[in-house]
Amino acid sequence: MECPKKNMLFKICPKCGSKKVKWIIPQNWSMWKCMVCGYIGPIIEGNKEMSEEIHESYLESLKNKKD
Ligand SMILES: [Zn+2]
Repeated sequence: MECPKKNMLFKICPKCGSKKVKWIIPQNWSMWKCMVCGYIGPIIEGNKEMSEEIHESYLESLKNKKD
């Protein structure tokens, strides 16, 4: 038996990798809002690894903006 949790997919923000995303418009399934960075738009599905990767590059881009 395979472990279903190992590669489980969840919805993540494509901008910052957060899992705190909310479906804001019932009529429009592709519109989501990220509670962390304020992103609004289509959300992506990924596993934990992917979410961490996006989050890291998001933090990098924040650093670059400040300079
Ligand atoms: Zn976000």
